[in-house]
Amino acid sequence: MSLLSISVTPTPLQNRKPKSKLPLPKADLLIHPIGELATPCVENGPARKKQMHEIRRVKNAAIAVRKGVIIEAGPADDVLSKIETDAATRKIEAPNKLVTPGLIDPHTHLVFGGNRANEFLMRCQGKTYAEIASSGGGIVASMRATRNATVDELVETGLYRLKRMLAHGTTTCEVKTGYGLTQDSELRMLEAIYELARVQPIELVPTFMPAHAFPPEVDRKQYVNDIVAHMLPAAALFACSSSAKPCVDVFCDEGYFSLDDTRRIFDAALSLKMKLKVHADEFANLKATELACEYGALSADHLLKVSDKEIKMLAQSDTVAVLLPGTSFYLNLSDHAPARKLIEDGAAVALGSDFNPGSCHIFSLPFIWGLGCLKLKLTVEEALTALTHNAAFAIGRGGTVGQLLSGYQADITIYDVPALEEGPYNLGWNPVAITIKKGEIGHRRVSNGRQIDGANNFFSFSLYLLSPLVIILWAPPQTGARSPNRYIQARGPDLQK
Ligand SMILES: [Zn+2]
Repeated sequence: MSLLSISVTPTPLQNRKPKSKLPLPKADLLIHPIGELATPCVENGPARKKQMHEIRRVKNAAIAVRKGVIIEAGPADDVLSKIETDAATRKIEAPNKLVTPGLIDPHTHLVFGGNRANEFLMRCQGKTYAEIASSGGGIVASMRATRNATVDELVETGLYRLKRMLAHGTTTCEVKTGYGLTQDSELRMLEAIYELARVQPIELVPTFMPAHAFPPEVDRKQYVNDIVAHMLPAAALFACSSSAKPCVDVFCDEGYFSLDDTRRIFDAALSLKMKLKVHADEFANLKATELACEYGALSADHLLKVSDKEIKMLAQSDTVAVLLPGTSFYLNLSDHAPARKLIEDGAAVALGSDFNPGSCHIFSLPFIWGLGCLKLKLTVEEALTALTHNAAFAIGRGGTVGQLLSGYQADITIYDVPALEEGPYNLGWNPVAITIKKGEIGHRRVSNGRQIDGANNFFSFSLYLLSPLVIILWAPPQTGARSPNRYIQARGPDLQK
């Protein structure tokens, strides 16, 4: 099909008179015709069990938007009978195209200095972690590059990554700190995340994560004391001066933060009214998921080693199970989270990218959609629910984004494929044609195959013009440890974020 079939120029509709005397709401954006509209349709809370599979699919559909909010969505005749349009109404035609809620990524580490492409190549050549670490690689490399980066540099590289995510349909995204590992550098990461939230279209949910790893220069017990006594209060205070407080995340796993460390950090975070997330059960089961349920955390993430007891606890709690199949795939591991059991036992399951410089340099949610089906055995419908409605609950945005229903934010992804089944089918090719955030076009693919941003999005378009400069900034020099530190050695091979 031709991309030229999508029109985004303002087009008045033909005289369409209301059937009642009451004034009908006037749409400022109308998407019509739509080949297939596909959306979760769950009223209360995240989708569980069969709800995850029960996607509302409507052929020949329409969506009407006013002031960034969906006012009607469904069969075209029904929608068109309930709204008015005029010459100012923008119109997007998407015949033979799939339209879903904007994709939501509930787990990323997208702000970091440098990159670790050299490690990827070393792994491909069979190098051990000890060899990689002794050459200055691993998380220490990202930590040092991040500490050496200015806020402006972190924003520039973050913008470049977010632009690509927008082009792949992401409309809302969680972003963690965790590569600074000192109060000053963690707060600079947080400042970069708040600035990124301000200057580009994707809605960001910040997470403060100094408990991502232990810095090599500090005693472990002292570092946890510092997080509890100084870093969390500083982050809460910093956020108060800008916007909503960040969530707090802890890497609770073998070789990382213990269950007792995590409990201390959770207690401190709750006293500061910060919401909780946890990296749980990736390498070993320390009962982190149990702790997440006990503390009412928004999510427990990874869950490769989650126990049957914890799965039952998740089913009884509001804590969302965030699964990250891209990480196992990128590390060429055969282990994945028990997604089918989690769904069948009643846990609310979401999918995320885990985009980071080491263990998963994958940001594309359509690609993760494919991996969710291929590796986790989700149905195409379950995986869509996991990337939209349930992902929203994993970051505290449930009921606002993640469904194409009236009253929801007009975050919409339009694909250059005709039906839902083809969403995850095209691994390696980006099927996204248009990404809409709050009723505005954030990204639009043009017909010659290049991907540029919508001309009505000043920030993204400016970034496009500046992209050569950004690319130069993309490859800062690698700095790193000359020898592996004992904390990273404890983590085991090839699992560094
Ligand atoms: Zn992570």
